[in-house]
Amino acid sequence: MQEKEDKLLIGDVMFPIRCFSCGAVIAQYWEEYFKKIKDGKSPKEALDELGIKRYCCRRMFLTYKSIIRELARYRIFKGP
Ligand SMILES: [Zn+2]
Repeated sequence: MQEKEDKLLIGDVMFPIRCFSCGAVIAQYWEEYFKKIKDGKSPKEALDELGIKRYCCRRMFLTYKSIIRELARYRIFKGP
């Protein structure tokens, strides 16, 4: 089992520490969120499981969906 290899910082992409709207700290959820997405879960499922209920905060994650998809492609489908 390999873990803790993926960091929150991928390349030059900086993910927001706080929700822009309500100021809730969301940085600690990114890692778990990525993990769930990479496990094939939908963003909605992942956010539900993380207990992120506020719409403004969910939006923070959903906005990065396209980036995460890029990320997943690099990480999972990295060729030999
Ligand atoms: Zn919020």
